[in-house]
Amino acid sequence: MNSSFRSDAARRRGPALDVAIVGGGMVGAAAALSLARAGFATALLEAREPAAWKISDEVDLRVVGLAPSSIVLLDELGVWPSIRDSRSGPYSHMHVWDAENGAAIDFDAADEDRQLLGYIVENNLVQWMLWQALEPAGVRRLCPAKVHGFEVREDRVQLELVDAEPVAARLLVAADGAGSPLRDMAGITTRGRDYGQRAIVAHVHTERAHQNTAWQRFLPTGPLALLPLADGRSSIVWSLPEAEAQRVLALDDAAFLNELGMASDFRLGPILATTPRAAFPLKLQLAERYQSERFVLLGDAAHAVHPLAGQGVNLGLRDVTELRDTLRVARDAGRDIAAEHVLRRYARRRRSADTLDALGFDALARVYAWQAPPSVAARGLGVRLLDRLGPLKRRIAAHAAGR
Ligand SMILES: Cc1cc2nc3c(=O)[nH]c(=O)nc-3n(C[C@H](O)[C@H](O)[C@H](O)COP(=O)(O)OP(=O)(O)OC[C@H]3O[C@@H](n4cnc5c(N)ncnc54)[C@H](O)[C@@H]3O)c2cc1C
Repeated sequence: MNSSFRSDAARRRGPALDVAIVGGGMVGAAAALSLARAGFATALLEAREPAAWKISDEVDLRVVGLAPSSIVLLDELGVWPSIRDSRSGPYSHMHVWDAENGAAIDFDAADEDRQLLGYIVENNLVQWMLWQALEPAGVRRLCPAKVHGFEVREDRVQLELVDAEPVAARLLVAADGAGSPLRDMAGITTRGRDYGQRAIVAHVHTERAHQNTAWQRFLPTGPLALLPLADGRSSIVWSLPEAEAQRVLALDDAAFLNELGMASDFRLGPILATTPRAAFPLKLQLAERYQSERFVLLGDAAHAVHPLAGQGVNLGLRDVTELRDTLRVARDAGRDIAAEHVLRRYARRRRSADTLDALGFDALARVYAWQAPPSVAARGLGVRLLDRLGPLKRRIAAHAAGR
């Protein structure tokens, strides 16, 4: 067989893989599992092998609040029961209040005929349970694998890896996080703003029980959230201006507990003990486009948002559902899954939804940063009104739930 005949045959066959996903965080791993379950030949490439999650490990400092839409997806993928039963903090109530004017708003699951608003879970538990399900679902896992470039050809994308053979697929999906090297390689720019803030995270013991409630207090320096963990502690996400965050990180534990108690208005009583603290820089970042030739973005690679609404990964998991449904429709209609109009459909839908949410969270951050007395009073009036406007409040809650 001569080589030109071999390459013609190979071209007619197309690549063995339908989709190559780069980045195996929560969003990339969920995308790989979801696409494999939908019948696509899928590979997941990840630079770092995730550490095994064990119940005996201390609760990971990175936790997220999973909205009902995310739980539906994880349940469809068959991993939700094991995540829930391993370690998850259900919450049925959310109380948000303003340190400046006392105005508060409450969301209760019962108002929406639901038992729960969501669950607080560890990032590494979700990722681990997804990873456990990949191989049985037929996902080809390549890890550690680092992509250093890719080339778009007529019917495929060829990925060049560091110290490994190239990989070819019809479609390349970048789920490689907010700093997405693949987004840069595709020449897609971003817009947004640096909040000049850091979110300090830690798990704390409080004197009073958390009552399965997500508490959030808006201070002039930024929001402080206390999220209910399964073991009775609360996980804090305390957003502070950079210099203030550095000062608070450097406090000894006793001084930290005292300042945190004051910042939380002692709503759960004095803060009694804390884990070590970590901090994450905060920015708003939206990709100018979600797609280019045979290439799409999803998760934080496409959008990074302020954690005040606890929605980052929930938006990413909504990207996953949209991408799976879009590709499935294209395949069932006999179309190329990476045809421009197919990817455009996914990109248009998700980018407009994500942009609305991201700008909404940004507007909230701006409104709560107002400090002039008339603006603070107007904000209080608005929040009190909203709390009494049942239908509008229900619409906000339904939107946060992903409905
Ligand atoms: C303090 C804080 C609190 C938050 N709270 C919430 C919350 O309550 N609810 C919520 O929904 N969201 C929350 N978020 C946001 C949420 O954590 C993120 O949206 C989510 O983790 C993003 O997941 P991802 O899979 O898109 O990206 P990542 O988790 O960043 O995963 C990207 C993966 O890509 C891999 N990678 C990168 N480059 C390459 C390469 N070249 N080759 C191969 N692999 C590569 C990385 O190793 C990594 O595993 C919070 C964020 C912060 C900072």
